[in-house]
Amino acid sequence: MIDGTANGTGARRDKKSFELIGGSPALDLVNTLDWRFRNGPPPEELLQDYYDLVQFSVQCSLLSDAVGRRLVRNVNESKAAQVVAAVRELREAAAEVLYAALEGVGPSASSMKVLEKCFREAREYERLLWDGEKLAWELSQSPAPAELPLWMLSLKFEDLMTSDEMHKLRECGNAECRWLFLDTSKNHTRRWCDMKICGNRMKARRFKAQRRG
Ligand SMILES: [Zn+2]
Repeated sequence: MIDGTANGTGARRDKKSFELIGGSPALDLVNTLDWRFRNGPPPEELLQDYYDLVQFSVQCSLLSDAVGRRLVRNVNESKAAQVVAAVRELREAAAEVLYAALEGVGPSASSMKVLEKCFREAREYERLLWDGEKLAWELSQSPAPAELPLWMLSLKFEDLMTSDEMHKLRECGNAECRWLFLDTSKNHTRRWCDMKICGNRMKARRFKAQRRG
């Protein structure tokens, strides 16, 4: 577990678990703004702070536990807030493009501008490394800058959104959920994020709504 006692990341917390159903960390990140399209109450932000961001990145295997711990320990409060804001901006620009693509519509110029900026910036910090067999572009993890999760996620969006995998992009058929995923089923017939998760999330949501009265 990553210890969140360091600067600006809050007290030690229980490990948060994200539902990774997208088939790509990029799509799983989009799904961290939950109930994005629901009527009534606003969407639910699952990426509350830098600790959550690191936890998400570790769970997606973008970062090792050790690097995650180091990032949380070393980041200061203002940098942490800045990186989280940048990740949310990346996520929302990508979400706009992805949901528009599902509707067969082109993206907005403003979202494209954000993505272009994010992709370029992330690439700037890649280093050419020898991976034992061949050359590879990689983001250096030591020293690990606070922006590392942002840049890694930027490159995940770039990989996905410039690839033929986009043909597999689907959204959950539950109109209140609409989580994104890649349909890798044999006959391209997947319609739901995950029946169990989707059902449970709906139930939890109704329960909360009832308690609010
Ligand atoms: Zn769903």
